[in-house]
Amino acid sequence: MQQREIVWRQALPGEEQPARPADAEEARVRLQSGNADFARLGDLGGRQVISVGPEAFGLPRQVGAGVPQEPFAAVLACSDARAPVELLFNQAGNSMFVVRVAGNVPGRECLGSLNYAVDNLPTVKMITVLGHTSCGAVTAAVDALLAPQVYLDLIHDPSLRAIVDALLAGVRMADEALVAAHGRDVRDAPGFRTALIDLGVTANAAITAVVLARAVDCAVTYGVFSLTNRRVGITGPNGWQAGLMDPPDGDRSLTEILRWGAVNAEVW
Ligand SMILES: [Zn+2]
Repeated sequence: MQQREIVWRQALPGEEQPARPADAEEARVRLQSGNADFARLGDLGGRQVISVGPEAFGLPRQVGAGVPQEPFAAVLACSDARAPVELLFNQAGNSMFVVRVAGNVPGRECLGSLNYAVDNLPTVKMITVLGHTSCGAVTAAVDALLAPQVYLDLIHDPSLRAIVDALLAGVRMADEALVAAHGRDVRDAPGFRTALIDLGVTANAAITAVVLARAVDCAVTYGVFSLTNRRVGITGPNGWQAGLMDPPDGDRSLTEILRWGAVNAEVW
């Protein structure tokens, strides 16, 4: 069996460490290259060494001083245990301000947390919305759309229903995109439900990125973590495209993104 190791190694005094990203583009590049390193570790095995400052271990830089909070990015991600945010971006502690909630839905408390980060932590240069394939919360929304009885069963659970309701609009858009790409019969295809879940994840991440771009004064990107290839990206015109994307700039842009995912979905 191949060995895989990720090591947080505290830099020695005087040893050079990578500078914190100075702007949103540098933050995007840092996260993208970190995810590429993480995925490579899965493919090839080996050892990743992440050079960190003492604050990553909760230690001050000078005796008696505090540990300042200095994340360079904020992330709204799903709570799913298979998508651990710092790990999949190959980042150390104190480098990311992470808000996790099932389905990465932008509820009031989540928006408040992200607004706090942007307003009070000047090191934050970018917010990323991170969905993931095979999301259980999006699956619940898909099943509520496909089988009304599932939704009726949620009536007595308002907290769970709030998550499903927040995801239904994106799932409906994904459904329309799959029908537009493959015809109405696609709903009877063996791979339809799985395709709807994964395209629903993309739709919701993109919609949430638009919501955040309007609600928070900071650059916003989004992406989907693939549990299959361990890369963050979306399905583009030529298949899986790694990277963190800008929010769609309107209905046509969102429709185009969903069309790529629908056309490339393996439904039959
Ligand atoms: Zn999830």
